[in-house]
Amino acid sequence: MHKPSPPLEGPDAFQDQIRIVLVETSHSGNIGAVARAMKNMQLANLWLVNPKSFPDEASYARAAGASDILDRAKVVSTLDEALEDCVMVLGTSARGRKIPWPVVPPPEAAVIAAENSQAGPVALVFGRENHGLSNDELHRCHYHIHIPSNPDYSSLNLSMAVQIMCYELRMLYLRNLETGEGSHYLKPMTAPGDDGWDVPAAKVGDVEGFYSHLEQTLHDVDFHRRDNPRQLMSRLRRLFQRAKLDQMEINILRGVLSAVQKAAGASGNNKSTQAGNPPAGQDDGHV
Ligand code: SAH
Repeated sequence: MHKPSPPLEGPDAFQDQIRIVLVETSHSGNIGAVARAMKNMQLANLWLVNPKSFPDEASYARAAGASDILDRAKVVSTLDEALEDCVMVLGTSARGRKIPWPVVPPPEAAVIAAENSQAGPVALVFGRENHGLSNDELHRCHYHIHIPSNPDYSSLNLSMAVQIMCYELRMLYLRNLETGEGSHYLKPMTAPGDDGWDVPAAKVGDVEGFYSHLEQTLHDVDFHRRDNPRQLMSRLRRLFQRAKLDQMEINILRGVLSAVQKAAGASGNNKSTQAGNPPAGQDDGHV
């Protein structure tokens, strides 16, 4: 359904790397309104996860002059596909959830997105009109963004929420141009993805492979019982997402897991380790 994307003409790598991801949008008019909101703020990467109807007349009608954003939008069937090569994921939510997650307001979220965009694609994820993002989807995010709206009427129209985030990114970009500090984000170095860090930041796909391996290992050693999970994996996800792993750290952790599985007599024959093996020669975690 989706066409190959032509090269981007964004003003700066940071804007090219920002990916707006809409999950299971039901009203295609909202998709068009999102495209318009993005183009106004000079963003161009739109990903659609399993939209109810797209492309169609309503989406193009609401996009006004932003039909080029719709033409090059990528349609995928799962959120995992949209996030796989990303280094940072920020999910939006109109309300608090059961397990509290790191929450940032839009201006801070824009800074986090801009900083991480130096290392690879950054996804901003928006939910369904009727019930937002599921807990599982929100647990795939490093941060949650909450637009501090009226607590008694907190839910914005989808495209308005996208507009606010795109505006914050735009303001950050313009402030940066004005002060002539086009690369000032790069100077502090605290984590993978920062200029000067020795190993590339881990991609979401690698981290997901690690989570499957971790879950399988915890199961093999009888720590994690699938019939009584007690939110263990969600809490471990939150821990590792706070840590912002790099690719070598993933390999080390997976090496540790393989050693644990071996010692427990469970290695080599489970699906999760086969599905997401680290690159050949690096799976022992030796550095
Ligand atoms: N009824 C849903 C809200 C859906 S609004 C719920 O209670 O979760 C559609 C989408 O717009 C949300 O999934 C989110 O991506 C975005 N959105 C709406 N209001 C928001 C807010 N106050 N802060 C952050 N995102 C918001």
